[in-house]
Amino acid sequence: MMKNLLEDINSTLLMGPGPSCVSLSTYHAMSLPTIGHLDPYFIEIMDGIKNGLRLLMGTKNDVTVPLSGTGSAGMEAAFVNLVEKNDKVLILINGVFGVRMAEVATRLGAQVDKLETEWGKVIDVKEVKAKLASAKYDIVAVVHAETSTGVCNPVEKIGKLVAEQGSLYIVDTVTSLGGIPVEVDKWGADVCYSGSQKCLSCPPGVSPITFSKKAMEKIIARKEKVPNWYLDMTLLTAYWGGSKRVYHHTAPINMMYGLYQAIYQILDEGIENVQKRHKEMHEYLVEQLDGIGIKFLVEKENRLPMLNAVIVPEGVDEAMVRSRLLNEYHIEIGAGLGALAGKIWRIGLMGHTARSYNIDKLVDALKCIMKE
Ligand code: PLP
Repeated sequence: MMKNLLEDINSTLLMGPGPSCVSLSTYHAMSLPTIGHLDPYFIEIMDGIKNGLRLLMGTKNDVTVPLSGTGSAGMEAAFVNLVEKNDKVLILINGVFGVRMAEVATRLGAQVDKLETEWGKVIDVKEVKAKLASAKYDIVAVVHAETSTGVCNPVEKIGKLVAEQGSLYIVDTVTSLGGIPVEVDKWGADVCYSGSQKCLSCPPGVSPITFSKKAMEKIIARKEKVPNWYLDMTLLTAYWGGSKRVYHHTAPINMMYGLYQAIYQILDEGIENVQKRHKEMHEYLVEQLDGIGIKFLVEKENRLPMLNAVIVPEGVDEAMVRSRLLNEYHIEIGAGLGALAGKIWRIGLMGHTARSYNIDKLVDALKCIMKE
């Protein structure tokens, strides 16, 4: 039997690894009347989104678009467009999403090499330098903000090394975009993708992505077609670019309204102000958690402000705490993944979630549960 969601759903404070809280203004935008995907007014919205994304991503790339799909669609699109059979691909791994990149590239027939770092530790630039000196790679890929561990990887320094080799550079900014600086052009990233549901504070379903001129040249010069029709950038650019738009798929119109409004709100608050708010809220959380004896997994200098991986105190049943937070206090936080399962909680301060009153609610609830 189905229920009427409007009467049934409970609102939960989203303080996990995503999705994050969505503002009323973004929800309102998403409920506006649906129009056609080739309506001139929708094309204006598409152009607004592309321009807004260029500002958020720090790029002048012409091909900067939101894909219809979640962050994983961005990851797939990055690899499926760039990788040709037997390309040598180096993946820098220090968490779940680096592992996933390797899986995606392997399925495409690439010769995948991995440089693995302990989860919770930052990728060492010296090790990357040595690895790049040992072989020539067509593509190097890394996750900027590793959501599974809360580590911020040094993507700009790695980008300099990749540029010296002349390889193409893929950077995942699913969790970082909107919360900390993303500077695609400065980093020399050739493909950079993100997701709507983290620091952009839009519901999940759209994946911003940008391709450099060099990346597009490789795609256009491919010997074989991109082996995925839906994510083929040579086709998608005909819908998202140029003066005459060609039907490719029916864009999720109302999701795009949501993304437009979410970007509009970030630009309205000011990109730097939004980043400053994330940093300040992270510092406030550190202070509050310190007060109840909860420590962080990652060293201070490599921590992400929007994804706080904290160590579950000795003797505490981590699953019970998460379940009570959700069921009694309507607050969601995340569990550890893989090697960190059972050892950490992941507290998200992404987008609209990054507010002091949310931190107070969580810390008060944690105090009550842990006292009992
Ligand atoms: N990359 C990173 C760093 C992520 O954190 C996530 C999701 O959490 C993804 C990729 C995949 O995104 P999605 O779950 O939206 O498909």
